[in-house]
Amino acid sequence: MASENSYINRQIGNYRVVSELASGAFGRVYLAQHVLLKKRIVAIKLLHATYLGSSEERERFLQEAQFLEQLKHPYILPIIDVSIEEGLPYLVAEYAANGSLRHRIKSCSLHPLPLHETLTILIQIGQALHYAHQQKIIHRDLKPENILFNAKNEALLADFGLATSVSTVSMKHVDN
Ligand code: ATP
Ligand code: MG
Repeated sequence: MASENSYINRQIGNYRVVSELASGAFGRVYLAQHVLLKKRIVAIKLLHATYLGSSEERERFLQEAQFLEQLKHPYILPIIDVSIEEGLPYLVAEYAANGSLRHRIKSCSLHPLPLHETLTILIQIGQALHYAHQQKIIHRDLKPENILFNAKNEALLADFGLATSVSTVSMKHVDN
């Protein structure tokens, strides 16, 4: 198995890895380009090799792909594909070209985000959460790092790695 940094310039499925975007708790996120459809730029999230032997982490990673596949919404990160490369699962998603809300907050640290921009983000993410809840999926990790912006500057709710389906968790019913 190649070391994780050597993914740069390597091919994963139909994509050539261009650069690393971020390294999260469970995986690394890479910018990649389709080998034939050159205009197709995507983000590939790859499970850390340390979790290669952990079936629990693999299941959790693949569960994120299942949730994203179920949740088709203008303000939820669109999934393009999911597959397994040398035993490591990876998820191909639309590239959010305008970074995360965390990055945006940091880059204007001297003054708050303009009110109209804040309201737009709240409305878009509110709609995404409402839709997910209608599908009985709870995100459970809502934070600026997990709110991304696409090329049109629309907010995209991302990272369903900790999400859960209400239909699978036990519910406690209380009278009155
Ligand atoms: P963490 O534990 O830090 O939340 P994670 O492994 O669950 O990480 P994500 O939150 O999905 O992974 O992605 C980590 C970071 O990678 C994001 O905060 C964002 O900066 C970047 N990223 C993820 N997906 C994309 C994307 N589709 N387009 C652009 N950047 C992305
Ligand atoms: Mg995250």
